[in-house]
Amino acid sequence: MTDYQKIIILANQILKKYELCDNCLGRLFSKQLHRSSNKLLGKKLKKNLNSTKKCYICKNLFENLNHFLKLMLDVSSNYSFLSFSVGAMIKPSIIDRDDYIRSKYKLKGIDSVKTDITKELRKLFFKKTKKIIDLLDSDVTFTVNLKDESCEMRSKSIYLSGRYIKTLRGIPQKQKSCENCFGKGCRICNFHGISEFNSIEGIISKFLFKKFGGTTAKFTWIGGEDKSSLVLGTGRPFFVKIKNPLKRNSKLNSVTFDSLKITNLKIITESPKKPLKFNSLIELKISTENDIDSKNLKKLKDLKKLPVVVYEKSGKRSEKKVFSIKYKKNSKNTFTLVIQSEGGLPVKRFVSSIDVTPGISQILNTSCMCQEFDFLDIKV
Ligand SMILES: [Zn+2]
Ligand SMILES: [Zn+2]
Repeated sequence: MTDYQKIIILANQILKKYELCDNCLGRLFSKQLHRSSNKLLGKKLKKNLNSTKKCYICKNLFENLNHFLKLMLDVSSNYSFLSFSVGAMIKPSIIDRDDYIRSKYKLKGIDSVKTDITKELRKLFFKKTKKIIDLLDSDVTFTVNLKDESCEMRSKSIYLSGRYIKTLRGIPQKQKSCENCFGKGCRICNFHGISEFNSIEGIISKFLFKKFGGTTAKFTWIGGEDKSSLVLGTGRPFFVKIKNPLKRNSKLNSVTFDSLKITNLKIITESPKKPLKFNSLIELKISTENDIDSKNLKKLKDLKKLPVVVYEKSGKRSEKKVFSIKYKKNSKNTFTLVIQSEGGLPVKRFVSSIDVTPGISQILNTSCMCQEFDFLDIKV
C-alpha cells in the first residue's frame, strides 16, 4: 500500500467521525505528501463528499479570511512600507479541538490550525499588495484577532541622525514632557509625549512628525548646552528614534527654522549602542570676584597638563582632557576663555570649581562665574 492509499484510509476514518473543511483536512497530511496547498489536498481527499456541517476544528474560519484581509488593508492604508509579517489570535477552543484531533490520530509534525491561518492571511495580503513577506524583521507587523474580528498593526521604529546649529540664545535644548502622560504618549498630546514644540527637541520633532508621521520621537544628544548657549560651527550631533512611523523614507538633508538649522539629516539603521566620544570647542565669558591680571591668567595653561576630574553626586568620577586653551582679558574682572576639551565637561561647575578639579576658580584663586558659554564646534 502506498503512503497516499494509507492516508486516504485514515482520512476517511477521521471524516466518518468529524466533519472537516478542505483546509483542515489537507493540513493533516500535506507535509507528509509534500503538497503546498492544504485546500487542494483536502478537496482531493474528500472526493465528492459534500456536507453542510461546519468544520469540527475551525468552524469554517478559512471561508471568512477575506474579511480579515480587508481589516488588514484598512489598518495599513495610511502607511508606506515594503515588508510585513502577520500574527493571529484565535479562540482557544479551536486550538483545543485541533490538538485533540492531532493527538487522537497521532499526526505529528504538521502545522497547527493557527499557523495555517497565519500563512493564509500572509498569502492573501501578499497577493493583494505584492508587499514582501519578512518573518524576522518586517517594516510592519499585523496582529489579526479572529476572536473579536479586529486587526492591529505596528510599524517598526525608524532612526535618524543629524546635527543642529543654534544661532539665537533662549531656546532650550529639551522639551518638557506632556503633563498628562509624562512622555509616554496619550490622547491629549496626540501620542507624541510632548504637547509643546518650542525647544530644539520640539522643533525637530514637529518637523519629523510632519515628514514621517509617528507617535513619539526619542532623542539621544551628543552633549548638551544651556538655554542661553549658542551652538555654532558644524553643530551638535543627535540621534532620534521615531516610533510607529507612517513613512519610512523621505528626501532629507538640511532645513532651517529661523534661528535653528538642522543639517546632515539622514535615516540610519540603528542608534549607536555605545556613547559616542566627542570634543567640544567652547567659548566662555567669565567674571571674577577679585581683579585679575595677565600673569594670573597664564596659569590657565596648566589645564593642559593633567585631565580635569569631575565628581558626580552619584559618586561617579570621570576625567576630561583639555586639549587647547586661549584667553583674552576683557576688563579687570572679566575674561573670555576658549577651550577645546573632551565632550561632557560640566562647563559652569568647571568655572566655579564645584566638584570639578582643577577648576578655573581654583587655578586663579578667586571665585569665578560663567556668565555665558557657546559651542563653537563639536567634533565626533
Ligand atoms: Zn477547518
Ligand atoms: Zn500625553
